[in-house]
Amino acid sequence: MTVTGPATDVSTIPATVARLRAAFDSGRTTPLEWRRAQLHRLRTLVTEHERELLDALAADVGKPPIEAYAADLGFVTGDVDLALKHLDRWTRPRRVRTPMTSQPAKSSIVREPLGVVLVIAPWNYPIQLQLAPMVAAIAAGNAVVAKPSEVSPRCSALLGRLIPEYLDPEAIAVVEGGVTETTALLDERFDHIFYTGNGRVARVVMAAAARNLTPVTLELGGKSPTIVARDAKIELAARRIAWGKFLNAGQTCIAPDYVLVDRAVEEPLLDALASTVRKFYGADPRHSPDYARIVNDTHFRRLEKLLHDGRTVVGGETYEAARYIAPTILADVSPDAPVMDEEIFGPILPVIAVDGVGEAISFVRERDKPLALYVFTESDEIADLAVAETSSGGVCVNATLLHIANTELPFGGVGESGMGAYHGESGFETFSHHKSVMRRSTRLDPPVMYPPYRRWKERVLRRVL
Ligand code: NAD
Repeated sequence: MTVTGPATDVSTIPATVARLRAAFDSGRTTPLEWRRAQLHRLRTLVTEHERELLDALAADVGKPPIEAYAADLGFVTGDVDLALKHLDRWTRPRRVRTPMTSQPAKSSIVREPLGVVLVIAPWNYPIQLQLAPMVAAIAAGNAVVAKPSEVSPRCSALLGRLIPEYLDPEAIAVVEGGVTETTALLDERFDHIFYTGNGRVARVVMAAAARNLTPVTLELGGKSPTIVARDAKIELAARRIAWGKFLNAGQTCIAPDYVLVDRAVEEPLLDALASTVRKFYGADPRHSPDYARIVNDTHFRRLEKLLHDGRTVVGGETYEAARYIAPTILADVSPDAPVMDEEIFGPILPVIAVDGVGEAISFVRERDKPLALYVFTESDEIADLAVAETSSGGVCVNATLLHIANTELPFGGVGESGMGAYHGESGFETFSHHKSVMRRSTRLDPPVMYPPYRRWKERVLRRVL
């Protein structure tokens, strides 16, 4: 991907990281007052520049304002509010029991910041995916380098300007650019790297992290399946699937990638999906103010090639100058077709008929573990079976996408869809070291575990261990 946005001079990167490390080592970022102040400032950044941020999101990905507000800005302010509300509780040492052999003593788990962390973001939700991990990292008391995606250049430039203006420049910095700048960043030593993007680059990030034994969180993607059982409420399933798929023109990591529908309800589902698309976006979605565009020409051309991998039920139209691809439903898709090969990441939904939920589960199990799995059914047994028999980052029953909006649920992948998780307290935990602390009393010092070992000591130990 060519760099189209602003880029930081790579020769400044080592000094930037060194400045942040000095700030962290001085203890600047540890006090809860610093964390709270930064979180408040981050909130103000978003609220005071709402218009500019929405415009940048519209310019980069053609995001409708409501989607941009809900999925990018509102998401971040909600995250800030949650962190501010629970910071005291999250940071309080957690008392745990102490075994008899170590008594008298007290044991606790202390959360300590990791140090200087790097947050590399992608372009599809460029504000949310840059700032939400930063909320967690700041709440946990870390210094942070932010690396926005060059594929969303206006959002990158805006964050590059606003973050140093609002947040403590001694401890929080932005590096802009593409492969060259990120490669230079990855030459530095960090205490955690949080990467959101594709699996190919994730391997580059993880290899670079390995040089310094730096832990990583990898928030990746994949083909998230949607299973529609024969007892599902078809109209409702169609609405919820179409919403999750065509939001941001399908450029969502947890968008339903394809549908496995029970053959008995295939035709009603296809009809319902087609009529839902018309209801949502009108007869010609090109004129809908509620429908986003493809991020750039490379992705446009990639997606255009996938439009003919089945029978078009609805959509199929493209308009290159505006990077428009109509919301498209494909039927009679072969499992070997290119559209079923890689993550689609665009507004094309292949629907494959299967003979029951068992076959759908086998289909999912034969492929990489996805980031999300959706199942539509009125039966608890079928929902339980799908949860138990498949592995994915998360599951929604009779819904799409919404598990990401519950901050009580850790968000992350498994296998090819990533490692580690964040959101709410799980984000705070990701950016914290969980330090085990035991404080032993000096009032007593039973000799039982000290040499010389004797039979009686062994007997006591065998009784208590
Ligand atoms: P992208 O092209 O914006 O790349 C992501 C980041 O990686 C950018 O900051 C980019 O500068 C950097 N990068 C690119 N090449 C690099 C290299 N060779 N070395 C180091 N850094 C490099 O975004 P993308 O990868 O196209 O994002 C889409 C993917 O991300 C999809 O697979 C999607 O499912 C996934 N995704 C996952 C989540 C999640 O939360 N799990 C969220 C959004 C997107």
